Amino acid sequence: MSAIDSYRLDGKCALVTGASRGIGHATALWLKELGAEVFGTATTEGGAEAISESLGAGCGLVLNVTDGEAIAATVAEVSGQAGPIAILVNNAAITRDQLLMRMKDEDWDDVLDTNLRGAMRVTRACLRGMLKARFGRIIGISSVVGYAGNPGQANYCAAKAGLAGFSRAVAHELGARGITANVIAPGFIDTDMTRALDETQRDRLKGTIPLGRLGEPSDIAACVGFLAGPGGAYITGQTVHVNGGMYMT
Ligand code: NAP
Repeated sequence: MSAIDSYRLDGKCALVTGASRGIGHATALWLKELGAEVFGTATTEGGAEAISESLGAGCGLVLNVTDGEAIAATVAEVSGQAGPIAILVNNAAITRDQLLMRMKDEDWDDVLDTNLRGAMRVTRACLRGMLKARFGRIIGISSVVGYAGNPGQANYCAAKAGLAGFSRAVAHELGARGITANVIAPGFIDTDMTRALDETQRDRLKGTIPLGRLGEPSDIAACVGFLAGPGGAYITGQTVHVNGGMYMT
């Protein structure tokens, strides 16, 4: 295999959840650049249209990952247009930050339902096609805080740690069928999710990062591309930490 070929994704169909912004958007564009036929989802019609403008007509879809029927319809739509989904990036997620003392059941349930159960449901819906093709790359976007913990994010940390455990179980179950499952644990990446922090918080954060900057969405997209491609074929059940060194295992 040539060096370039170890990254190429030609002929592969990819689905990225939460591709309207941030990491998901950068990832969808990068997988397309590598040659995949990429579909991305947003929760709104406007978001889906914007995705179609950057990925191609019909490639932006509306999906709420808490809706099981919508997941089935999305997977059917993508498979109908481009064949079985070979690369799945479970990226969609939300935060509902609150100290545990004050956390409502609803804050817990919303985050677990979207970030963990959503990923499980989309993965399960893609399995039939992957099993038939005897090929699959399932990549979950976890988080550094799923490992290090973070005050005010008990729900989000639990979901992100859960996604890694889920992925390891899937890696065990499906490795023999040519399907890999991994998670990437980003550190702090410059997206809408972290733009909620004020300047002082961002400066304090940068001081904890050996590389001295927040990550860019493209830093995560590059790692997704590698895990999805031929060069990543022998990696499964792993967490890849992409965090500028802020947390070292
Ligand atoms: P973001 O800018 O907040 O974008 C979130 C994406 O998820 C959007 O496309 C959003 O769609 C979609 N989404 C939200 N709820 C959804 C639902 N119920 N169903 C389907 N899609 C939904 O997030 P980001 O910062 O790029 O983060 C992307 C991933 O990286 C997430 O898993 C996040 O937890 C993880 N992560 C981020 C950081 C960071 O520092 N940013 C660090 C570690 C991990 P709409 O646009 O339609 O709302």
